[in-house]
Amino acid sequence: MSALLQVEGLTAGYGAAPVLHDVDLAVGAGRIVAVLGANGAGKTTLLRTLSGLLPPAAGRIVFDGLDLRGVKVERMVRHGIAHVPEGRGVVTELTVDENLRLGGLWKRRERRRRREEKTALDEIYELFPAIADRKNHLGHQLSGGERQMLAIGRALVAQPRLLLLDEPSLGLAPRITAQIMGLLRDLRDRTGLAVLLVEQNVRSALSIADEGVVLNLGRVAARQDAATLADDADLRHAYLGF
Ligand code: ATP
Repeated sequence: MSALLQVEGLTAGYGAAPVLHDVDLAVGAGRIVAVLGANGAGKTTLLRTLSGLLPPAAGRIVFDGLDLRGVKVERMVRHGIAHVPEGRGVVTELTVDENLRLGGLWKRRERRRRREEKTALDEIYELFPAIADRKNHLGHQLSGGERQMLAIGRALVAQPRLLLLDEPSLGLAPRITAQIMGLLRDLRDRTGLAVLLVEQNVRSALSIADEGVVLNLGRVAARQDAATLADDADLRHAYLGF
């Protein structure tokens, strides 16, 4: 059976010289795949290419049987791909509730009723009680962890099947990072959500991931199940710095 996301021979970058070279990877439904690697390895570039923000120079990206080459970002969202970029992208001048409604805006065209919107938001608040208590707070009044939860929550309003998540632990205390990782694991287990998780925090990422992909200078240096990768001291020393 083919994976939910299948990437083959992906080459991409910002100018003449590619950052990613011939990248192959796959994410199955209900799987968490961690993308690991040093600074500048190309992790963020990979997510930006997969979510359609950067056009690939070569290779194939197939999501649920649909070849994504040339597909507009809006259609990708409708098809079930959500991207939470590094830095989170919360609108700091809007309230928590308004930020979450933005996540469902694209559905309005389908005459999604207010009641459905309320149900979708209630589900997010149930998942993230920390932001439920702050519905009317502005984005800039939230802590880093709350902003990260809001950014993930906003992506989930669109009911994606694949979440592309860039460095959710960035700048967060270990306790909050652990809480967010636990939430991702629960979401995978309860809803079958697939996650491609870019993380500098290798131990945290591997603690919830099913598989790991190690990028080095834009190439895949290793693809293994997460437990094997965590136990591979040579690989860890060579590419992951511990
Ligand atoms: P980090 O862990 O530091 O976030 P990363 O693995 O996510 O790193 P990328 O951000 O994908 O790496 O960067 C990979 C390479 O692409 C780097 O050499 C970087 O300088 C280059 N790069 C990133 N963004 C741009 C851009 N907008 N224009 C040109 N080059 C860029």
